[in-house]
Amino acid sequence: MPDATRGFVRSIDNGILEKEIDLEAILINTYHLFLNPGMEIIKKAGGAHKFMNWSRPLLSDSGGYQIFSLIHKNSRLGKITEDEVIFKSPTDGTKHILTPEKAIQIQFDLGVDMMVCLDDPSPNDYPKEKIAQAVSRTIRWANRCKKEYEKQIKVRKISEKNRPLIFGVIQGGQYLDLRKHCTQELVKIGFDGYGFGARHIDSKGNFMEEVVRETASFIPKNALRFALGVGTPEDIVKCFSYGWDMFDCVIPTREGRHGRLFLRKEKNVIASEAKQSRNISTNSFANIQDDKSFYETININNGKYKDDFSRVDEHCDCVLCKNHTKAYLHHLFASKEMLGMRLSAIHNLKFYADLLGALRNSVN
Ligand SMILES: [Zn+2]
Repeated sequence: MPDATRGFVRSIDNGILEKEIDLEAILINTYHLFLNPGMEIIKKAGGAHKFMNWSRPLLSDSGGYQIFSLIHKNSRLGKITEDEVIFKSPTDGTKHILTPEKAIQIQFDLGVDMMVCLDDPSPNDYPKEKIAQAVSRTIRWANRCKKEYEKQIKVRKISEKNRPLIFGVIQGGQYLDLRKHCTQELVKIGFDGYGFGARHIDSKGNFMEEVVRETASFIPKNALRFALGVGTPEDIVKCFSYGWDMFDCVIPTREGRHGRLFLRKEKNVIASEAKQSRNISTNSFANIQDDKSFYETININNGKYKDDFSRVDEHCDCVLCKNHTKAYLHHLFASKEMLGMRLSAIHNLKFYADLLGALRNSVN
C-alpha cells in the first residue's frame, strides 16, 4: 500500500493507481485527515471512499505513530496520560485530545475497510523499562479499542460481512520477550490482524532480523500480518519470507519524486526472487540477508544520463518506460518539471506492485 497519508498519493490520480499500477489498497492516516480537512468535511462527503472517489480497500492507521513522534521529539507539543493523548496541531497550534475510543470512532467515520488500534510506539532505542511501559499501555489501549469497535458495530448496525477488519499493533522495541508478551496479550483480546509496531530497524539503522522474524511466528496462522512502514524491496522480501504479508511505505513515491528509481536487473528476476524466498525456511533467513541482487537504483539527476537515450527500465512497461528515455527524464528533472517526479513515482509504484504481485503468486 502506498501512503496516501492526507487522502492522496501525491500527484497521482486514482485512474493511474487502479488501471496502470493495479493497486489493491491504499493507506490513509487518521491523524492527518482528522486535522485536515477535518472529520466534518469527510462525514459530509459520505466517508473517505467517497471523498477520495476510491472504491478499492482503504486502510487507516491510528495516527499514534505521528502523535507520539511529535511528543517524543518535543514534549511541549503534547502529553501522554493513561486515559488519553493531548497534542497540539503542528500547523496551527490548536489543542486536540485523542483517546483509544475516539481513534476507533474516527476510523468508523472515515468508513475504512481496515483499521488500527491506537498504540504507544516508543522509539526502539528507549531503555527496556520505558518500552515495557509502552507495551502495557498498548495492551490496555488495545482492549479499550476492541470494546469501542464492538460498540460501534452494534450502534451502526454493521453486519458481520461488512464489518471493517481491526488490527492490534505489537510493540516491544528490540526486545523479543516484550514483543512476545505483547503479541500474546493482543491475541487474547482477539484481532483480525496484527501489526509490527514502531520501526523494523534499530537505532543504528540495522534490520532487526530476529525480532521481526520471531514476532511473525507468535501470530496465529489465520490472522493477517501487517509490517507497518516496511520498507526497501529487500526488507519486504525478507519480511515476506518470515510470514508478514501486508506492507505500507512512502519509499516508492518519495524516492521517485527525488529522481531515484528502482530498476529490475532481469525480466523475471522479481518473480524468481519471490520463489526463492518462499523456499527459505524461517531458520535460514541469512540466505537473503541484505540481498539486493534483483534490483538496482539509479539517480536520474546524475549528469551521465544527459545523453543516455536508453529506456529507463528495460523490463518495465509503465507509462514512463514505454514512452520515454533516461535522457528525457533527466531533462525533466533538470527543468524541475513536475512531470518527471510524477512519472518516476508511477514507475517506482509499479516496481513495488510487481514485486508484491510476484511474492503473492509465489504462495498461491
Ligand atoms: Zn517503468
